[in-house]
Amino acid sequence: MTLNKIMKYLGKFFHSRKKLKFFGLYDSEENLVYPIESIFYPSKTGSPYNFNQLHPILCINPSKIIGIGKNYRAHVKEMNSEVPTEPIMFLKASNSIIGPEEKIILPNDIGMVEYEGEIGVIIKKEAENISEEAAMDYVLGYTCTNDVTARDLQKKDGQWVRAKSFRTFCPVGPWILPVEQFPKYQNLALTTYVNDKPVQGARAGSMIFSIPYLVSFISRVMTLYPGDIILTGTPNGVGPIKRNYKIAIEIEPIGTLINRVGGESTAIKQPLTATKDNQRRLENQP
Ligand code: MG
Repeated sequence: MTLNKIMKYLGKFFHSRKKLKFFGLYDSEENLVYPIESIFYPSKTGSPYNFNQLHPILCINPSKIIGIGKNYRAHVKEMNSEVPTEPIMFLKASNSIIGPEEKIILPNDIGMVEYEGEIGVIIKKEAENISEEAAMDYVLGYTCTNDVTARDLQKKDGQWVRAKSFRTFCPVGPWILPVEQFPKYQNLALTTYVNDKPVQGARAGSMIFSIPYLVSFISRVMTLYPGDIILTGTPNGVGPIKRNYKIAIEIEPIGTLINRVGGESTAIKQPLTATKDNQRRLENQP
């Protein structure tokens, strides 16, 4: 994809040679990352690093992950369902979250698991009973997300928390596009790739319930805190993921979130064996 050259992004980065993790403001024009206090207080704290020396890592630690079901008409149709008259909310366990390049782990014996490429909305400040008009003042920015779903369990259970909450079932990243950088959120353009083949595509403007409507609606029910994330629903084209698949969620003009798929293995159950993946997993904890 071609990044718009004026874009600046908020994220967390790992400098592998210096073994250093820091919050950063990534200037895609200068190809530099400036260390900042945090994604919520982006004042610069030191000299910049060359972006090429860094890897983006998970940059949020949400108190909750709120999902929205059936928010694109074509997806409602493919699920043989009815267009909802109000947002369908669900929760994903907050520790299902992983960062860019971390592995999605498929547990054994849970049936079909599917990807759901989605636009993620990150909350900036505490929000309760916010109007739709004021909602975007409470949003820090947007990121790429994958609402990985154990489809058979979702159908079997009726309610969705188990199907949505397995560890590693919420990839997020690679960084956050601040709202001020891109006020016309309707033009965010999502494409999901499975093994480099495009399988989903939609613009935020075709959501049934818009981003400000969702923030307002959710804030009437539960208090949103800084770092909380809303998964705004997936367009049509969902499909199964299997071991060794590469899933890429691209949002113009944010970037691409890439995660490969693995299975449960003894290596994962014994994280102290220093495999490269496990080492990354440990290092990527925010
Ligand atoms: Mg979803």
